[in-house]
Amino acid sequence: MKTFSTSRDFALQLDAQDKLASFKGAFVIPDPSLVYFDGNSLGMMPKAAQEKSRQVVDEQWGKDLIRGWNKGWWDAPTRVGDKIGQLIGAAAGQTLVGDTVSINLFKLATSALTYQPNKTRIITDTFNFPSDLYILQGINQTLGNRHEIIRIGASDNDITPDLAALEAAINENTALVTLSHVVFKSGYMYDMQRITELAHKKGALVLWDLSHSVGSVPVHLDDCNADFAIGCTYKYLNGGPGAPAFLYVNKNIQEKLSSPIWGWWGQKNPFDFDLDYTPAPGAQRFLVGTQPMISLLTMEAALEPMLQAGMDSLREKSILMTDFASFLTESWLAPFGFSLGSPLDSAMRGSHISVRHPEGYRINRTLIEELNLIPDFRAPDNLRLGFAPIYLSFTDVWEGFDRIRRVMEEKRYEKYPLQKLTVT
Ligand SMILES: *Cc1c(COP(=O)(O)O)cnc(C)c1O
Repeated sequence: MKTFSTSRDFALQLDAQDKLASFKGAFVIPDPSLVYFDGNSLGMMPKAAQEKSRQVVDEQWGKDLIRGWNKGWWDAPTRVGDKIGQLIGAAAGQTLVGDTVSINLFKLATSALTYQPNKTRIITDTFNFPSDLYILQGINQTLGNRHEIIRIGASDNDITPDLAALEAAINENTALVTLSHVVFKSGYMYDMQRITELAHKKGALVLWDLSHSVGSVPVHLDDCNADFAIGCTYKYLNGGPGAPAFLYVNKNIQEKLSSPIWGWWGQKNPFDFDLDYTPAPGAQRFLVGTQPMISLLTMEAALEPMLQAGMDSLREKSILMTDFASFLTESWLAPFGFSLGSPLDSAMRGSHISVRHPEGYRINRTLIEELNLIPDFRAPDNLRLGFAPIYLSFTDVWEGFDRIRRVMEEKRYEKYPLQKLTVT
């Protein structure tokens, strides 16, 4: 790890050397004193997206009306999917935009399971996003409770999964291994290449949830020969609240698979209005119905700064930021009883870290309500700090930690009730 210092001047020096510093100007900063550490939950708004949403409403919807479908709406799921493909190491023709992460997981996991009717084991972990686990449970019920869902637990801490148990659990009866590549609480990042290989050796298919990876770490789906991926566009891709998700299906298996939801957008010739379904070629069969164009096209514009910056540069900055944040946690927060809830080794984590404290919930609330710092809280004790390298500066990171330190010194959180608000 680089040698860091707690002085503000040091953060300013890092900013002076930051090749991506100018990208902050591509985002709407609502208030110069706001420190936003929640880009891993909802990214800030790119100016290009703001302009695009206005243009789509005023010009495309307002004036083109139905003609819009032939002017870039109908093919938007594949066009925008291919752009996202550039950020996740996927050649064209494998990534599609539409629906939500949960729905895409339903479609792809169901498809993977029905493709291998004789295998009954599904492997996931307790670090996965709960919605992903719910979807798997629902699929199991829909398919007649024939599957056994194995959840690999944590190793001796709550930070990393038990990799030995994962390896041991994957056997010839395993149909699907599905994991979050970067896990939402601790920020732990799986070795995609290694796990995919392990699963393939036993004949299992692999589905990666990239919701916390896309736009924060380089992903190489094609090189890893991953079978499936899904992911979110409103987190590090800054696509806006509820922007449609994406899915990836490796070209080597596309033609073998059937979608569990046969809609007209996944039909071969939708405007023939045939009464019987024939799947569209390739991944497109996983589309279902009409997509939210205002949101989708706004998200397309949001990708521009990400594509310009490039994932390798973003990762380089992100590592320096999370290393700096880990250093500040140790220097300033550990004396107040905080511990790092994320891997210390940057090769094993994404772009957010969790700092744990028994009063995490009330500290989070104080920071939001009084200090103009926005992290989020994940039970039981994780104050989650997301560092979106595209628009955050090192001074922002320094400033954020300084505010947390102030809250602790003054014990400001003590006046808040223990009762939690709905969204934490
Ligand atoms: C954010 C996130 C989701 C969100 O799912 P939606 O269905 O789009 O609401 C799913 N999985 C993971 C791992 C996430 O981080």
